[in-house]
Formats: sequence, structure tokens, C-alpha cells
Amino acid sequence: MQRRQLLTGLGGGATALALGLLFTPRSGIGGDRPEPLPPTGDDPFTLGVASGMPTPDSVVLWTRLAPRPFEPLGGLPEAPLALQWELAEDERFTSGLRRGETLARPENGHSVHVEVGELPSDRRYFYRFRCGEAESPVGRTRTAPAAGANVSRLRLALASCQHYEQGAFALQREIAQQDLDLVVFVGDYLYESSNPRYRLRRFEGPRPTTLEGYRRRHATYKLDPDLRASHAAHPWLLTWDDHEVENDYAGDTSYAEWDPADFLRVRAAAYKAYFEHMPVSPRMAPRGASMAIQAHYGWGRLADLWTLDNRQYRSIQACNEDGHAGGRMLGSCAALEDASRTMFGTSQERWIAQELATSQGAWRLLAQSTQVAPACIDTPLGLRLYSDSWDGYPRARERLMAAIAAQPQGDVVCLGGDVHRHVAARLRADPRDLRSPVVASEFVTSSITTRSASDTAVQWMLASNPDLLHARSDERGYQLIELDARRLRCEMRATAFPVRSAARVHTQASWVVERGRPGPQLDTLQVPLRDVPT
Ligand code: FE
Ligand code: CA
Repeated sequence: MQRRQLLTGLGGGATALALGLLFTPRSGIGGDRPEPLPPTGDDPFTLGVASGMPTPDSVVLWTRLAPRPFEPLGGLPEAPLALQWELAEDERFTSGLRRGETLARPENGHSVHVEVGELPSDRRYFYRFRCGEAESPVGRTRTAPAAGANVSRLRLALASCQHYEQGAFALQREIAQQDLDLVVFVGDYLYESSNPRYRLRRFEGPRPTTLEGYRRRHATYKLDPDLRASHAAHPWLLTWDDHEVENDYAGDTSYAEWDPADFLRVRAAAYKAYFEHMPVSPRMAPRGASMAIQAHYGWGRLADLWTLDNRQYRSIQACNEDGHAGGRMLGSCAALEDASRTMFGTSQERWIAQELATSQGAWRLLAQSTQVAPACIDTPLGLRLYSDSWDGYPRARERLMAAIAAQPQGDVVCLGGDVHRHVAARLRADPRDLRSPVVASEFVTSSITTRSASDTAVQWMLASNPDLLHARSDERGYQLIELDARRLRCEMRATAFPVRSAARVHTQASWVVERGRPGPQLDTLQVPLRDVPT
């Protein structure tokens, strides 16, 4: 049935368009001769502006022209359009002005990813785009500090899991207002599926399976003013989880009834639409169904941060009888302990071990989609675990912890999302052995909107895992994380249920990690970060 839906979704003229754009960049489009913006009077900047992936001398500026975002190609002709960009140190665009022209190409959905280079490090900027007579909103961004620089602080927001239908993006609204260097978004940026039981607002249409379908879904998200404000206010670093493509997919294996070839076509469409709507480097542009999103970011001597990909290269969840991907509660089964099973894939696993071994950062932040610390539940029938989580990949997790434990110095903190609860946890060299040493700390953020498991289940989970120091699923949230040379502080911002964009947000708890002492400690002072003078 799912397969039939896919084929229907690709039927008729949409097939030619979707497959043509995905697989055969035809001559006749994508040439270098730009056309003027059609004079319809519609604003082409409906999806806003964004920036991301700052390095010491560069930053990526993004926009996508789409005067009518739910029409094919956003209502634009199948021709390249000329687009001007400007970046300056002041809001009036006078000091340190840089400008250029680029082409918004139809084969990229008229999106642009401008990597502005040769910029001074550790500086804040304003940017905007112009197309014909139309001018975009002004965005703010920054470059990272130079590689060897002594940096006094890094302040970031950690966020994940924003189901559009399940709540207002009140937390993005607060993130937009914060004084931050970065937003780190660790997955479930969008949801492909709908749950009719929890619906405060509606998606634009059915589950996407084609490039045009995923473009429309991304447009729904970018039309949200709070999400647009958050993108415009700060540079973002991104990785993904499953819902950007499909619930619980694992590598090239689908959760649904699709065979691998059909699923890889869906994954290619989803990755391409993701690329077209995110402020990521043009070098990350997907090739077919592959897109490398894992990356390293430096913040002077203070921190190294890596984004890691938990989905594209992982083994299928253990012990699924029907060969389809998907998480479920499991007892023990032989395949769980198969050492060849992987979360990162062999080459990403090797890469992050190498990166950790050579990092000079005082802090080493591993941003990936989900909770690393055990979340299994102790029952009278023995331990039960959720097979889509790191608990379902125990040997891969041991290898990650070994890479963390082996690095000579520096404090490792894992940052995650996906589980829709705020979590603070200790990470041990062997996470399943409480006698093994604590080697790292972990913070997992609650969801921006997505509903969660009951708090009763979480209480049970807390009782079963002494290394979980904090776990609360009753509130949605994001985390404000500030680090300096001595300590890292995580303020868990939360709201009960964001029905309105103006929902009240409070601090659920604050945790600190001191340099040289792995493991979060409750911050008894509880001074709100946002009120600390800087
Ligand atoms: Fe999620
Ligand atoms: Ca997820």
C-alpha cells in the first residue's frame, strides 16, 4: 500500500518534474543566463533568510526564492534568477560592506547557499538579499573565533523535534531573542507524518514522498514566523534525525513497506529538499541519496564541536523479524551484541575517533540526534530497551565511549535530542557497568513541540538508570548552554504546552560541568543565564 502511494505520488507530470530535477540535470535549465524576477508583485522572500556553519573566516548565507511556496518551484519559472547579497558589520550596511551576485537556480528550487569567505574572525554581521525590486529581511550572523584564539565564552541554544502540528514554536521565538553565538539543531527539524490526535494546526498536505512534496513541507515550516526569526537571529549548525525523511528509517532500510530502490528515491528527495532549505555549505549538496552532514566546527581554544549523523549509515534496528526498519521495546536478543552493527557507519566512526584524538579544544562537544546514556527499563522480566536508541547499538556505543576515554585531555560533552525530554546524565567508559569510570557528560534537550512518552515511563527509566541525573518529559523545551574555560552551564528552558507563540517559558533546572570533572552537577545557584551581564 505504501508502495502504491509512492508510485501514485510520482505519477504524471510530477514524475517528469521530480525525477528530472533529481536525477537528470537537463540542458536548458541551470544555464548561466539569468532571467529577471517575474513582475507579479509577490514577495519572493516568504521563506526568510538564514545563516550557518560559521568558520573563523567564512559563513554561509541562505535564502530560497518562493513567492508562492506551495506551487511547483515556488511559483517561479524554470529559469535561473539573479540575486544580490550584502553583508556588513552594521545594520545600515556601511562598515565592512561585502556584496556579490549569485544565481538562484531552478534545479535547486531557487535556493542559494552563499559561502562568504575571507572575513575577519570572531565578528558579528548583518546580511540581506535583493532580487529585482524585492529586498529580504535582514539577518544577523557571525564568524567563529580564530583557531588559536583565547575565547572567553561560547553560548549556544540546543534544540530538536519540532512537530509543526503539535504546537506553536514559542521556544524558537525565545531562542530568537537570546544573546547567542550559535543554534545547534540536532534533528527532527520537520515531521513527515501527522498524528490526528494532537493537532493544533495542520500540515499543507499528505505525507511527502517526492521532491515537490518535501519542498512544500519545508515551506510550511519556514512560513512560521518564530522559526524564521530564530534563523534570522543566529547562525545554525545542523544535523538530522529520522523524521526529515521517514520515521525510524535506518540507512537505506525503510520503516514502511517500500523496497530499497523506492526508499532511496524518497531519501534522495528528502535530502535534496533539506539541503535546499537549510543554511549549510554548498559543498554539502547531496549526490543522489547521499548527503554528508557530519562536520567539525572550532571555537578558538575553547571548544571543538562535531555534528554527527545517526541515520544515514546505521545498521537496521536489531531483531526485527520482518526485515523492515523500526524501533520497538526489546529484551535481549543475539543480534544486539553483534559487533559489526553500527550507528555512525565505519568511516564516520573512525573519523570521530581520529578527531577526538587530535582535538586541542578545552571542551569537545559531540552533537548527534539522540540520547547516548542508557534509558532501558528494569522490569520483573529483565531489562527492556528501545531498539532505535543507542541502547539498541550497545557495541557501537562502547566503541564511541572508548574513543572518548582514549583521548588525552579535554572534557567531552554529548549533546542530543529526539527523546522529547530534558536529560542530564553521566557517561561511563562502559555505559552498562556502573563500576566503570565516568568519562563524559551528556545533555539531551526536550522537544520544541513534539509530544512525549508519559512521565510515568520516565520515572521508571530514572529509577532503572542511576546515571540519569535528570529526566523530565512533561514539558517541551530547549537548552541554553554557556561554556568558559572553567565550566559549562546548561539551563533547561521549558514550557508546559506551547499552544501560543507567546507561551510563558521558565527554567526547569540548571546543571553545570566543571572542567576536569566529568558528570553534570546540579547548579544550586540557579542564576538565569539570560540575566548575566556580558
Ligand atoms: Fe522527535
Ligand atoms: Ca527522532
